[in-house]
Amino acid sequence: MRDRFPEFVSVAGNCKFRGCQHLREPQCAVKAGVADGTIMQSRYDNYQQFHEELAARKPVYDKKKR
Ligand SMILES: [Zn+2]
Repeated sequence: MRDRFPEFVSVAGNCKFRGCQHLREPQCAVKAGVADGTIMQSRYDNYQQFHEELAARKPVYDKKKR
């Protein structure tokens, strides 16, 4: 995320919540940036897609052998 969306990271410090995912959170600086044109809508669309892919990926847990 830091490598792919550096401009998000720079404004994310202004998000209301720490660990904001910039999706449905209120008072999100990234969404505000998209709204006022600081962040390109296409970049945000890209980010949403990236996030969906992450979410779709199933976590892998290593089972401990007993
Ligand atoms: Zn945010």
